[in-house]
Amino acid sequence: MADVLKRVPVREQDAKVRATNFEEVCYGYNMEEAMEEASRCLNCKNAKCIQGCPVSINIPGFISKIKEGNIEEAYKVIGESSALPAICGRVCPQESQCECKCIRGIKGEPVSIGKLERFVADYALENDIKPVKAEKTNGHKVAVIGSGPSGLTCAGDLAKLGYEVTVFEALHELGGVLVYGIPEFRLPKQKVVKKEIEKVKELGVKFETNVVIGKSTTIDQLMEEEDFEAVFIGSGAGLPMFMGIPGETANGVFSANEYLTRSNLMKAFDSSYDTPIAAGKKVAVVGGGNVAMDAARTALRLGAEVHIVYRRSEAELPARVEEVHHAKEEGVIFDLLTNPKEILVDENGWVKGMKVIKMELGEPDASGRRRPMEIPGSEYEIELDTVIMSLGTSPNPLIASTTKGLETNRRKCIVAEEENGQTSKACVFAGGDAVTGAATVILAMGAGKAGAKGIHELLSRK
Ligand SMILES: Cc1cc2nc3c(=O)[nH]c(=O)nc-3n(C[C@H](O)[C@H](O)[C@H](O)COP(=O)(O)OP(=O)(O)OC[C@H]3O[C@@H](n4cnc5c(N)ncnc54)[C@H](O)[C@@H]3O)c2cc1C
Repeated sequence: MADVLKRVPVREQDAKVRATNFEEVCYGYNMEEAMEEASRCLNCKNAKCIQGCPVSINIPGFISKIKEGNIEEAYKVIGESSALPAICGRVCPQESQCECKCIRGIKGEPVSIGKLERFVADYALENDIKPVKAEKTNGHKVAVIGSGPSGLTCAGDLAKLGYEVTVFEALHELGGVLVYGIPEFRLPKQKVVKKEIEKVKELGVKFETNVVIGKSTTIDQLMEEEDFEAVFIGSGAGLPMFMGIPGETANGVFSANEYLTRSNLMKAFDSSYDTPIAAGKKVAVVGGGNVAMDAARTALRLGAEVHIVYRRSEAELPARVEEVHHAKEEGVIFDLLTNPKEILVDENGWVKGMKVIKMELGEPDASGRRRPMEIPGSEYEIELDTVIMSLGTSPNPLIASTTKGLETNRRKCIVAEEENGQTSKACVFAGGDAVTGAATVILAMGAGKAGAKGIHELLSRK
């Protein structure tokens, strides 16, 4: 008999093989594995896992349907709270949300909630199970800016309530970071993201791509000239930060966002596309977050020797443990307690190396992590072709600077109420990374839901 304290293991692509391809790392559960894992759920009366989920999915509810083998019903239960379960099942940090609250985790391993969610959602995509639509429209027009998880969730929730929703997206592809940032090997685009966006379209949401709000038109014009009664801003935090060290403007230096966009959206990895991504025989990725891991693992798959250069130690790496583990398994080299001082540039303006310095950790700083301090005289040089800066991002100021009366804070984030997304401007709501700064898919979705609730409270009174 299976050990109930342990999870049903999930099958993965072999590390050596996957380091050379862009196919998905994790295969997910099959029906038998999912039913066995579901049987570990204790169906707690006071389910703490629901409290851990930013969109409050009825977790024991959908798992009990898996136990019965009724996956269509399980999908309906999830669909009451989330429009993007195949995405969340893959990229949510469940270990610090629903799963860390699971009672099974006290004595053994928590139930694999994320993998079960993914199983149900994949089943729904494969079998084309339709989401539940509103019976008729209520005649109110709402504009959503950005098609990332916050915008998609807000649009989907409002469409289910009968609103006429149009999403305006600056890029030619829908999905925000889900398509241009997170790599294919963690989140397949055709098989998962596009299909899940199709389900939002099936709810009646309209999409307009290649529309940059703040340039093509403005929020004030949408409201005054195009009769949108409310606007939700879900424009994300796509503006990369740099270190400000010498050589950072050389050819061969990328922000992680640009590098990943070239790979994901502009298909640089596919030789039939003409998208430059730099020679990349030896690449340094500066930073230690999830985005740095994605950039490093992408460069590795493009054939490079890849070094993560991070100024603190492994214990302080902000990336998910699973991502660090996968990166190491695949062969990414970690240069820890190391900080760049200068990017070395050749006579043609291309990166040829990096001067770095060794660091040691002092007392904890304001973030609670031990402060990294340079070790005098420990500088050395490494040879490189490409440097990818992954130091975080902030919201692009374009929308705030072109919208009258929209307040931002000193981090350039739009100021909005947490519970309903209301901004300083009447009838304008906001949520996701544009409000919090770079965060997570599920928090962006939670903010999209809150925004939809705020807009519904406002417009249902009209
Ligand atoms: C490489 C990478 C990996 C990540 N991995 C994970 C992960 O594993 N798990 C996780 O939970 N989170 C992860 N995140 C974070 C997560 O993806 C974001 O927190 C989330 O996507 C934010 O959603 P959003 O809807 O607020 O914004 P976004 O996803 O950024 O979407 C914003 C959209 O708005 C559009 N837009 C911007 N300005 C305008 C404008 N003026 N007019 C019209 N459209 C506009 C953009 O083009 C974009 O499509 C990752 C982020 C990155 C960059």
